[in-house]
Amino acid sequence: MLGIIRNFARHLWALAGPFWFSEERWPARGLLAVIVGMNLGMVYLNVLFNKWYNSFYDALQGKHFDEFIHQIVRFGELAAIFIIVAVYQTYLRQMLQIRWRRWLTERFLGDWLGGRAYYLMQVAGQGADNPDQRIADDVDLFVARTLSLSLGLLDSVVTLASFAAILWGLSGGLTLLGITIPGYMLWAAVVYAVLGTWLADRIGRPLVRLNFDQQRFEADFRFSLVRLRENAEGVALYGGEADESQRLLGRFGRVVGNWWDIMRRQKKLTFFTSGYGQIAVVFPYVVAAPRYFAGAITLGGLMQTASAFGQVRGALSWFVEAYGSLADWKATVDRLLTFRNTLDRARMPAAAAPALGGSSGIDRRETPSPAVAAENLGLALPDGRSLWQGVDLRFEPGEAVLLTGPSGAGKSTLMRAMAGLWPFGEGRIDIPAGARLLFLPQKPYLPIDTLRAAASYPARGDTFDDRAVAEALAACGLPDLAGQLDEIHHWGNRLSPGEQQRLAFARAFLHRPDWLFLDEATSALDEAGEGRLYALLRERLPDAGIVSVGHRGTLAAFHDREINLPSLWRSGERAAAE
Ligand code: ATP
Repeated sequence: MLGIIRNFARHLWALAGPFWFSEERWPARGLLAVIVGMNLGMVYLNVLFNKWYNSFYDALQGKHFDEFIHQIVRFGELAAIFIIVAVYQTYLRQMLQIRWRRWLTERFLGDWLGGRAYYLMQVAGQGADNPDQRIADDVDLFVARTLSLSLGLLDSVVTLASFAAILWGLSGGLTLLGITIPGYMLWAAVVYAVLGTWLADRIGRPLVRLNFDQQRFEADFRFSLVRLRENAEGVALYGGEADESQRLLGRFGRVVGNWWDIMRRQKKLTFFTSGYGQIAVVFPYVVAAPRYFAGAITLGGLMQTASAFGQVRGALSWFVEAYGSLADWKATVDRLLTFRNTLDRARMPAAAAPALGGSSGIDRRETPSPAVAAENLGLALPDGRSLWQGVDLRFEPGEAVLLTGPSGAGKSTLMRAMAGLWPFGEGRIDIPAGARLLFLPQKPYLPIDTLRAAASYPARGDTFDDRAVAEALAACGLPDLAGQLDEIHHWGNRLSPGEQQRLAFARAFLHRPDWLFLDEATSALDEAGEGRLYALLRERLPDAGIVSVGHRGTLAAFHDREINLPSLWRSGERAAAE
């Protein structure tokens, strides 16, 4: 048990610690110090309230009116201070919470986008873990719960220490079967709370797993809904509603099924915790009654003892009350830790990550040579299977080369490797130092933004002036779009695939790269349209090196030479082809 806790604490620290040593550390530590100070102040106020009980009930019992009024005023003073401290304690805690969340979110986003981890996690089949939920929800939950639980823990410990001493002083001894137990009220509180905590732990433990699953099932369900929305046309054309409905209901069924398990377990836990809480109301009076009826303590003493008992029990049974959120918190921490591990693995160079390829990795580097070249290049799949090996390629600046080969030959994968996206494989790729490379895939990515931003991507929307953007669009056969530069749409859904490919060519004309890689970038156009775009490309970017992948025979006319990839494979070395 202790080992598990120690291990968990180590991982937790790796997640929670860095913020407190970051550039934000001083405001963060300052805020935390003030909040902790306020927490301690509130415990002290509770001690004063506890003393007040004694005086107030003694005034009532003795029918001392002046003292009664005095105690009411005293209560008002204490309550006013308590309210102010409570309000600002929450306010400052929320302030610390959003600072921490912002820092952690920026870090996760940086690691996810940096080193293209988001892409590698997906191609290596490790992307199904809902990274969006981790970054959007879990970071928030983690920060909020870590703060509330750790401050709650501090509160409980300090309360326990203060009120244990008070209770010890108040409770006197109890003689049972000739044995006197000193401070017996304190022992009664300890036994009551420890027993309660232990039982609650036993009953509530399965909730950790159940809550973890619940959040995963909810995220899977939401993701399926988003996917349907994104692929509405594809599903509608196939008339796949029945199948989608079955899949969505299946995913939702898991949400409901797990929810029932949570309900049943929660019911057991609530039976226990509420019973435990109710008994706690009368328990101290029952335990202290012998001394009160024996005349050893006054009514004020009885009330103060009961109040101190309540504080000790409350502090000790902090685990009982916090069990639900502790379970949720642990589930959140586990999910973030898994995400962190996957991120770290995806960010490792392929050579050091056998789980991501198994081979030595492709060495892609910038060189002084003006050509793009591949030497002894082998491509593999994420699971380590080889696509092909030992290929040498060389593309000179200004020349246009067409790469051909059957479907599945690895043409797109070669493009990815040249873009530096594909670490799986071996050999070397040389890229001219400082050269600007642009890749046009079959389906270009279009951000949901103004048309100007979509045409300028990946540069910012204000990089090119409007006339240049409008001219490029018109040149690519999209003159009507030239007047819609300020309109914001989901362009990927609105424009036809052919129009999207034309838009991508307009991008190329705006960016004027030194090297342009086209992966079936004109597949949705007719031959005449494709011919016009390629002719324009050679005319407008005469110095750019062009490497195209395509299946159409007519494409060859726009290129200086054609390379059939399978002809380069070393005989008998392509596992997949055999
Ligand atoms: P096409 O002409 O059909 O576009 P291609 O030559 O471009 O085909 P690639 O897309 O490069 O082929 O794919 C080469 C092989 O690698 C295919 O068999 C494909 O299934 C496989 N492959 C590609 N990406 C992955 C991945 N992330 N995980 C596993 N296998 C993959």
